[in-house]
Amino acid sequence: MDFNDTKTAFSMKSMTDLRNAQMLFTAIQNPVLVKSLKYMTNLALKVNLPVAWVVKPTLYRQFVGGESLQECEKIVDLLRTYNIKSVLDYSAEGGSAIEDVSRAFEETMRSIEFAKGKSNIAYTVFKPTAMIIGSVLSKAAVDINTLNEVEQAELDNFKTRVTQLCQRAYDNDVRILIDAEHYATQGIIDSVAETVMRKFNNKRAIVFQTLQMYRTDRLEYLKYLFNDSKEYNYIPGIKFVRGAYMDEERALASRLGYPDPIHPDKYSTDKCYDSGLKFVMENIESFELFSGTHNYQSNMLLADLIDAKGLRRDDQRVFFSQLYGMSDNISFNLAAEGYNVCKYIPYAPVRDVLPYLLRRAEENTSMAGQTGRELQLIREEIARRKG
Ligand SMILES: Cc1cc2nc3c(=O)[nH]c(=O)nc-3n(C[C@H](O)[C@H](O)[C@H](O)COP(=O)(O)OP(=O)(O)OC[C@H]3O[C@@H](n4cnc5c(N)ncnc54)[C@H](O)[C@@H]3O)c2cc1C
Repeated sequence: MDFNDTKTAFSMKSMTDLRNAQMLFTAIQNPVLVKSLKYMTNLALKVNLPVAWVVKPTLYRQFVGGESLQECEKIVDLLRTYNIKSVLDYSAEGGSAIEDVSRAFEETMRSIEFAKGKSNIAYTVFKPTAMIIGSVLSKAAVDINTLNEVEQAELDNFKTRVTQLCQRAYDNDVRILIDAEHYATQGIIDSVAETVMRKFNNKRAIVFQTLQMYRTDRLEYLKYLFNDSKEYNYIPGIKFVRGAYMDEERALASRLGYPDPIHPDKYSTDKCYDSGLKFVMENIESFELFSGTHNYQSNMLLADLIDAKGLRRDDQRVFFSQLYGMSDNISFNLAAEGYNVCKYIPYAPVRDVLPYLLRRAEENTSMAGQTGRELQLIREEIARRKG
């Protein structure tokens, strides 16, 4: 398998798509430009200036599936022709007031209904923090005993909302991923995720919990889940990622004076991620696995582990995943070799998805290596097509 095979990697992209991607990744490499763009966009949003005309044919086209579930169908169908499945991710980053919570809950329910019976939608997904009023979650994370009656009721409602989403996923036979976010609130989310896995994962994994392997405690936690699943007779769905909030976590730990929860260096995070993959694959009879990474070595390792174990490459228990608009060289080459791949496709109205897009841009700016690699492959493919 060759992740540098650009012909396969960009087979879905037209020359216009490639030029757009080249322009974007070049811009993203420039931190000053990204900062100014963020400032101008936030300003435009504040004063209600129309932004769609500039964002839709550029950033949106590269990284977003559409404004609604229905609008994503074209991309979902197209990806399917390349043996790639989809995960439709409602990415509106609104506030965390009760109206925002209700909106996110209803939309996630719709996405579970939408996925029912569609084999090209491999999983549904939600951000747990979108299912609870933010201030209540933060307060509960510090000390659950300080919640007043109304706050305690909201925490109970959160558990009910998560259970209802997972119940609907279970009823529709659709798998559901619970994203992970900040360290401070993850303990509460872990305990809710364990409860729903125990309830819904008896025959197969319907609910998947996310483990951020940049955390020093996650291998141990993985082993805890393994033991817990034996005791309660369920199949843990494990979604591995490295983790997206490293700088914030380090800064917060230092400000509040608790030990940094993140591995001290990239090498240790990589080692932890790969050890997690190995542990799950050694015990694949007891797990289902979703590996969300753009890392060459980890993707290659998982492909090797599948082959070495003698599993079918399309064994439904193991999926690779990358974000839509990124690392197509990995997704399309894995899929061409017969492995299970799905793209995480964000969708939401233009204005609502902008904070997500700006975060993506900033993340890529800070990962100079990844952006440089994307750009180099795009340039190679443009040159190859020009002959
Ligand atoms: C399909 C998918 C779903 C995702 N879902 C989530 C999610 O639910 N929650 C979430 O937090 N993130 C999520 N992410 C983002 C993910 O956590 C990573 O931020 C992103 O994918 C980059 O990591 P990588 O493995 O792709 O690549 P790499 O470039 O190999 O790794 C970069 C990552 O390594 C770690 N790292 C970098 N430098 C250091 C250092 N000095 N010390 C320690 N660690 C370091 C950081 O986690 C950094 O993001 C998701 C990503 C994908 C592809």
